[in-house]
Amino acid sequence: MAINDETKTESSNEGQESGHQEVRYKSLLQSDALYEYILETSVYPREPEPMKELREITAKHPWNIFALTADEAQFLNMLLKLVNAKNTMEIGVFTGYSLLATALALPEDGKILAMDINRDNYELGLPVIEKAGVAHKIDFKEGPAMPVLDEMIADGKHHGTYDFVFVDADKDNYINYHKRLIDLVKVGGLIGYDNTLWNGSVAAPPGAPMTKYVRYYRDFVLEFNKALVADPRIEICMIPVGDGITLCRRIN
Ligand code: SAM
Ligand code: CA
Repeated sequence: MAINDETKTESSNEGQESGHQEVRYKSLLQSDALYEYILETSVYPREPEPMKELREITAKHPWNIFALTADEAQFLNMLLKLVNAKNTMEIGVFTGYSLLATALALPEDGKILAMDINRDNYELGLPVIEKAGVAHKIDFKEGPAMPVLDEMIADGKHHGTYDFVFVDADKDNYINYHKRLIDLVKVGGLIGYDNTLWNGSVAAPPGAPMTKYVRYYRDFVLEFNKALVADPRIEICMIPVGDGITLCRRIN
């Protein structure tokens, strides 16, 4: 699905009659003022300088909607510290905003295997990551993530070795990532799947207006959410920060 489809909203009388808000807002909170309050009183005053710099660089990118919101980045950073994450993975890097939030949270000898099919966007953020003094924690691999996961599973050395994995790439593959990541993450470790509320569209009535991009991936996200709740190997918690992140804790 082409990213410029993102801007085209399909109109539907049915959706308007149902009163459902058009599904394309970045924040899931009901009031913009409430969201501004969170940012202005809790996030921006404590935002590390490199996070601010990279957020501002990313905001100028035509696909800026890809990046985590600043409040979710703050949440991710805190979460990584709470679980004492050291060996981590990120699928879907873009300009490296969530990657920097991760790298800043890890100890000096922490590691992030970071994968993205696009190196150019990563390189936009890389100078900021280097200046922040955390680039040594990152092993960036350009290319699709799935073959890398398959290789790690095949060589047997990586089973149960990851403390934390953040998945924020092709939503139609989340279920396939999960099949592999459940082996690679430690028992007691966490996988965070981003955008599991998918612009609020997961709860939109049939026929609600939404962009073609949102509509295209919606069924994949709905199926994925169902699969997680039925998976006895994990405990889950869906957190309505950003576009929704589902945390999965491996229990066996
Ligand atoms: N996590 C980033 C952040 O918050 O700043 C945003 C990631 S963006 C939503 C999704 C990224 O996934 C894009 O940069 C895209 O190139 C990448 N991607 C798409 N398909 C992929 C694949 N099969 N393997 C690895 N990366 C992929
Ligand atoms: Ca995301």
